[in-house]
Amino acid sequence: MAKIKILDTLTTNKIAAGEIIERPVSVIKELLENSLDAQANYIEIEIEQGGLGLIRVLDNGIGMSREDLKIACQRHATSKITGAQDLENISTFGFRGEALSSITAVSQLILTTCERGSEVGNQIKLIGGRIDNISKLAFNPGTSVEVRNLFFNVPARRKFVKSLSYEAGLITELVTKYSLGHPDIRFKLINSNNIVYDTAGLNSVEDRLRDIYGQEMGSSFIFIDKEIFPGLGIKAWLAPETFNRNTRNQQTIFINGRLVKSMAISKSIENAYHTLLPKGRFPIAIVSLTIPFNEVDVNIHPTKLNIKIYDIEKITEQLTKILKDKIWQKDIVPNLQTDYIGQLKPLFNNNVEEQFFLEPEPFYNQEKINFSVPKYEEIVQEKAVSERDDLNLSEISSLTSKGEQQADKKTISIRDIPDLEPIGQLNNTFILAQNKNGLYIIDQHTCHERILYEKLMKKENQKDIATENLLIPISLNLTGKQEGILIKNILLLNSLGFIVENFGLRTFVLRGVPVGLDIINKEQFFIDLIDTLEENEKLTPAKIKESLLTLASCKAAVKANHKLTREEIYFLLQQLTKVDNPHTCPHGRPIIHHLSMSKLYKIFQRGEFIG
Ligand code: ADP
Ligand code: MG
Repeated sequence: MAKIKILDTLTTNKIAAGEIIERPVSVIKELLENSLDAQANYIEIEIEQGGLGLIRVLDNGIGMSREDLKIACQRHATSKITGAQDLENISTFGFRGEALSSITAVSQLILTTCERGSEVGNQIKLIGGRIDNISKLAFNPGTSVEVRNLFFNVPARRKFVKSLSYEAGLITELVTKYSLGHPDIRFKLINSNNIVYDTAGLNSVEDRLRDIYGQEMGSSFIFIDKEIFPGLGIKAWLAPETFNRNTRNQQTIFINGRLVKSMAISKSIENAYHTLLPKGRFPIAIVSLTIPFNEVDVNIHPTKLNIKIYDIEKITEQLTKILKDKIWQKDIVPNLQTDYIGQLKPLFNNNVEEQFFLEPEPFYNQEKINFSVPKYEEIVQEKAVSERDDLNLSEISSLTSKGEQQADKKTISIRDIPDLEPIGQLNNTFILAQNKNGLYIIDQHTCHERILYEKLMKKENQKDIATENLLIPISLNLTGKQEGILIKNILLLNSLGFIVENFGLRTFVLRGVPVGLDIINKEQFFIDLIDTLEENEKLTPAKIKESLLTLASCKAAVKANHKLTREEIYFLLQQLTKVDNPHTCPHGRPIIHHLSMSKLYKIFQRGEFIG
């Protein structure tokens, strides 16, 4: 008996939906692109419950006739191509005729439409892909697609959906991004009866950038409009390097108006900023390429998020060059507040010393080397300082005058490393220390990072992370997606000491931060936290906390190339004696490297070292 059967249409549509409709935002993407193909210049998107309860996309495009409406929701029904020959030259967003059939397979759908010039419209209702009803009704020219109870018949898919605010965030992000690629079209997004985004009156990319990113950052984008090759044009809006993110999410790429992901183009944007941004930081940019239709293949991926560009290397090479030329014209990059990376406040509020030692002292300076043998009074002071458990190192200076009885001990013992005696600092980056077993090289950054991390971790476990109110609250302009993540994690952030208040449309105010979070650019830091939370979406709350604390301690820790005073070196080593794991930082990088006496003897061919 034959075992192979041709599957029925409802099943095949559901299978196709599995590829195309991953989550609510996938529906929005398909419907938006249909509205763009229908030449609409007004697109209104309404959602409820993160898009699971309701998605309605209404446009003022060309609409459909009653005949077309009847077949529009069937698989492979399209008005955009007529045969395989057209695949070489696709100028529309759609062409596979799969979106509406897929959406209807996994939802309850009502499609209402009226052709331009027609008096009367038509409406079709489908449930799980089956036609329920077709009727005539009065309707303005254009089309409305209403999708209810998405995935009502695919419980497995529903489980993949994250929190409703997260899904709503993805939708807001998609709509705002699309609005940057199509500044001539008005987009309006309504979430549970609240207008969250409306581009009415924002008729240029610049206007929209200001609305999305806030006045300061939104006004700082550099604009480029160039033809790379005949018929191949590029428009780009680049944020100065002072604004950057820890993910590639704020790189928005359009190819012929289609929002796509392209690692090759992302990389070429990053190459243009090369050396301006620290490792792990990504530029913010909108790049829109116009490429002859026959030089791209949009048919390599069901959702068309990835597309193939012939001759991509040639294009990216030129792209990097053009972007780089503009970015590196220094006078164009506004001289804004420097990013917090590498710009930590001096740990020590001893301004005289800061000025005095601006130039690093060479190590052969006899006086400096002397400090490897601290005087007794200094040890007493140090001990007093190290007894303090505060996160804020800048308090050390005020403490050094206090004396306290302590054991007659000139050295520090870190776990299995006894009697460590600081020697000094190497190139403002490593602490050098010795004991009878040899030389110890300590990475000042990972060392401080570990100390802060464990302190934060302990405080967090005791649930007493105190909040420091900011004298001047910081206003935050978030993207839709970031807003979703923030709202979802607000309690977690509160428990970590952050106080944030909503202040209107995607605007928030940061009023408090964890005590001792000694970072200049708190705004950037907070945005990074949110982006990190997004990346760690799959993790448990405990893990999220951990990664938050890792990030917090990394950002607050003293960086390389930072001169430390003798007191600070002592303080760091004393603190390191108290941590549970003095050997690696929270990211797993080593803190201490030991160069043993026997190793040194070997290097210098002194025979065997007998300790
Ligand atoms: P595709 O976009 O690949 O053609 P879809 O399933 O998305 O396939 O849509 C099927 C057809 O329905 C389209 O080709 C188009 O003719 C029609 N259609 C869909 N949405 C709209 C709309 N908003 N306005 C006018 N026609 C539409
Ligand atoms: Mg389509």
